[in-house]
Amino acid sequence: MAEIGRSIVKMDVDKLINLLNKALSDEWLAYYQYWIGAKVVKGPMKDAVISELQLHATEELTHANLLATRIVQLGGTPVLSPQEWLKITNCGYDAPEDPFVGVILDQNIKGEQCAISTYNKLLDITKDADPITYNIILQIITDEVEHEEDLAALKEDLELMLAKHK
Ligand code: FE
Ligand code: FE
Ligand code: MG
Repeated sequence: MAEIGRSIVKMDVDKLINLLNKALSDEWLAYYQYWIGAKVVKGPMKDAVISELQLHATEELTHANLLATRIVQLGGTPVLSPQEWLKITNCGYDAPEDPFVGVILDQNIKGEQCAISTYNKLLDITKDADPITYNIILQIITDEVEHEEDLAALKEDLELMLAKHK
């Protein structure tokens, strides 16, 4: 454990580790939601949507990696079993039971909006207390804002296309 590294954190480190584990659980659930969504999605603009869902899946995995690495640095244990994910998640999991593109896009937009507000709170909490974690969260939230925008743009294109054929 990085003892001095841990000692410079000006907040309750166990509480911080807890919050990071909740976010780590969100990232794994988001990863799977995108990954499985890309497998089952159906409807117009399917190919463009699949590419975006697959890319986002890999980016959520990168976020999980950043969070787990930071948890270990702080002397914590990253959440060890998938059963825990659903117990401690902030944003939950939306199974793509309806494979229509519009529905899958909406589910993932909702997920990104939850991720953005979760990370925004973490930015506030770490701002003056832990610049290292703050910097990691800032990288992650930058991606989440991009994710929301990418999905919203696809949804807008889909709606324009469907309106044309009415
Ligand atoms: Fe993420
Ligand atoms: Fe995301
Ligand atoms: Mg994207």
